[in-house]
Amino acid sequence: MLALAGYPLGLRFTFLEPSPDSSAAQVGQQLQGPYDDPDLLGRLAAQSDLVTFEFESVPDSSAELLARSCPVFPPPQALAVAQDRLLEKQLFASLEIPTSAYVAVASEGELEAALAKAHLPGRLKSRRLGYDGHGQVLVLAGDQLAPAWRQIGQAPAILEEVVEFERELSVLSVRGREGETATYPLVENHHRDGVLQLTLAPAPRLSPELQSQAEAISAAIMDRLSYVGVLAVELFQKGERLLANEIAPRVHNSGHWTTDGAGCSQFENHLRAGLGWPLGSTVNLGYTAMVNLLGEEPDPGEVLTLPGAHLHLYGKEPRPGRKLGHVNITGPDPRRVTAQLQALAQALGLTLPPPERPDSYWPS
Ligand code: AMP
Repeated sequence: MLALAGYPLGLRFTFLEPSPDSSAAQVGQQLQGPYDDPDLLGRLAAQSDLVTFEFESVPDSSAELLARSCPVFPPPQALAVAQDRLLEKQLFASLEIPTSAYVAVASEGELEAALAKAHLPGRLKSRRLGYDGHGQVLVLAGDQLAPAWRQIGQAPAILEEVVEFERELSVLSVRGREGETATYPLVENHHRDGVLQLTLAPAPRLSPELQSQAEAISAAIMDRLSYVGVLAVELFQKGERLLANEIAPRVHNSGHWTTDGAGCSQFENHLRAGLGWPLGSTVNLGYTAMVNLLGEEPDPGEVLTLPGAHLHLYGKEPRPGRKLGHVNITGPDPRRVTAQLQALAQALGLTLPPPERPDSYWPS
């Protein structure tokens, strides 16, 4: 999707990607091999003016290596922080960004001490390589901590209190090379089995206060990291307060709506930022619902009968639960967008969370 946004701007792309059947190969040259292959990293740097990443599990050492011979954005340090839940929490704390209470657990010997300080129920989360709820175990009572620790492979972890949040939101901001920033409206996210299913943009009942809280959070993080590119911050809303859950130093699934529903997409803005070009508008054009297509590709004709629907297929092999594409439904009238979203859900057999008002996900 970065490449699709970049071609009209005159850009060309090379991808380092291990998978032999990646979508990337359909839109650029693929260097196929592991993300830490020194020869491939050398070739990538030699034939690129600029390198970015759109996947958090790229080793930060690869980003550091590339950065020695070629500009890399976002900064590799942002990748290192996002890959480690403890560093992430420490970053939030140092910037006085509210987050859920937690205790670090580095070894079996620390379990007892952690329990003494922890707020239960809690979630034991491995510090590294967790995504979409992987590497996490719910801990309801003290005697469940040791088994939970074994379940996550006895890896260094944090034990985090369970937050009784009202909803999950995310904020996407972009920062350019001169430190200029722009932020998209907050969006509301709904997950199914730990995977993002639906994003509502803008978030229903979005107050200016909530938006400015979110902007202050991402601005603080981006300034601290001398950030360039798009940054996503996943948030919990509790009352009128936002708690930061985690950061993603890249274009983000909850920003896919921007391709059809904002002045300039997150993909184009990420590239503009990296290239030192002016940032594009982050204003929403009406209301957009983004639905992920998981496991099965729909018949395009069926989706496109809905006048506000835009279909984005990734050209991936179907596998149960795999993200194969998404649909954006956009329009100026929230009730029409809601009706089309409900029609899409029916056509594809999806169970979506019910709208707040029977006829609208965006009650005024
Ligand atoms: P994460 O990998 O941290 O984004 O967690 C995946 C999902 O688990 C989040 O989107 C939330 O739905 C849920 N979750 C994570 N941490 C907490 C928490 N401290 N309290 C309640 N729910 C959480």
